[in-house]
Amino acid sequence: MKFCSADHALCGISQGKEFMDKIKKVLNEEKIFSILKKNQNPSKKKVAEILKKSLNKKGLTLEEVGALVNVKDKKLLEEIFSTAGKIKKEIYGERLVLFAPLYISSFCVNDCEYCGFHARNKMPRKKLKLSEIKKQVKILEDMGHKRLLLEFGEHEKENPIDYVVEVIKTIYATKSKKGSIRRVNVNIASTTVENYKKLKKAGIGTYQLFQETYHQETYKKMHKGPKADYARQLFAHDKAFEAGIDDLGIGVLFGLFDWKFEVLALLSHAKYMDKKFGVGPHTISVPRFQPADSVNFKPKHYVDENELLKIVAILRLAVPYTGMIISTRERAEIREKAFITGISQTSAASRTAPGGYGKGHNLEQFHTADHRSVSEFISALLEKEMMPSFCTACYRIGRTGEKFMDLAKPGDIQNFCRPNAILTFKEYLLDYADKKQKVLGEKIIQKYLKLIPDQKIRKETQKRLEKITKGKRDFYF
Ligand code: SF4
Ligand code: SF4
Repeated sequence: MKFCSADHALCGISQGKEFMDKIKKVLNEEKIFSILKKNQNPSKKKVAEILKKSLNKKGLTLEEVGALVNVKDKKLLEEIFSTAGKIKKEIYGERLVLFAPLYISSFCVNDCEYCGFHARNKMPRKKLKLSEIKKQVKILEDMGHKRLLLEFGEHEKENPIDYVVEVIKTIYATKSKKGSIRRVNVNIASTTVENYKKLKKAGIGTYQLFQETYHQETYKKMHKGPKADYARQLFAHDKAFEAGIDDLGIGVLFGLFDWKFEVLALLSHAKYMDKKFGVGPHTISVPRFQPADSVNFKPKHYVDENELLKIVAILRLAVPYTGMIISTRERAEIREKAFITGISQTSAASRTAPGGYGKGHNLEQFHTADHRSVSEFISALLEKEMMPSFCTACYRIGRTGEKFMDLAKPGDIQNFCRPNAILTFKEYLLDYADKKQKVLGEKIIQKYLKLIPDQKIRKETQKRLEKITKGKRDFYF
């Protein structure tokens, strides 16, 4: 028998049935396994019906997704990809929103098997001073970035909430000659409602936290330290929502457990959030385990690149209006395929160590696979007639949570996304692009400007483009 004096309202050790019932409201492991078993060999007819239904862009049930994850037939798989591509195109069009991760501190009390910052690793730790943060931010601004995702290890002494808030304030206040960071998303360990309120007050965009694996037994094996509390991780978003943060990101680290289970669990979590908060997750991330120095973990449930693409496509069908994020963990070729079938946001030119931009420090959380600069990455997008977007509009005008979903679900958010992509990309072309990229980029802008369906918005976009050419900045709808 274990005794504990800590006040973990959701702690599994002492809560027994009550605890399990609470978890089951988010996801029911038995139910997921039984759905997967029941749908091991879905018929062609069933898959065709599911794909037809997905075109309504209302999302899919767990049962339907259980069938899709089990599709092996090559032709049916191609149909999944092409249907996902169609939905991606209809909802997100040609645009792809860019951001950069900014690692602030590698101090961490947790010992996660898959992470280079795990506590047993005796590497020197690094926590950025505010002066170093300013330098990192200026480097990122000089690349063209407008949107950051902050990463902190969990360490109450080294990374207390007041330090996190100071960091956010410093970033918003740091401006280079060419630009500024307009949106700061944050990834910190599960914390208290009071601390989330401080984050909200500091003006964060999305609060992102991954469950890593939804499979409880695997979760237990993978984690030591405060993060080992499965429920603390699972209900972090509930606490953030209670604190007023309604822009929330979830995700899984693929490779820790069976990806089919994880996809259904992610969907269960998304449905739970939608039902409970009236707002589903703003984003779902699909990182795959990548090796790191000092990490001995060898994934038993390795997810190969084709499976990753399948995951992206199925999630796009299942939650059409939830943004989906892929990072530079993946090779350029795979990333570009994923952009076509479902991804709407991506990082570019990332470094995964605190102080990693510029000459800095090299002790990474994990290795990346796409090492292209922002400029090289953008050129590759333009060749495929895709439009990079540096848009940060929604959170800045309070279009978050329910207000965002009310526009996103009927598909009306596109009326803002495309013009905002055009305006922010125009700024990029003028401020950062070389001659060749300017020519190509301008063609892309003109192409998509014509496709803005609302004449009033199209005309207003044109006017604002002229103002940007004359030196004005930061317009958005
Ligand atoms: Fe710490 Fe996060 Fe790494 Fe776990 S995954 S060791 S919590 S930094
Ligand atoms: Fe994202 Fe809103 Fe900009 Fe669209 S308008 S790209 S949803 S921030």
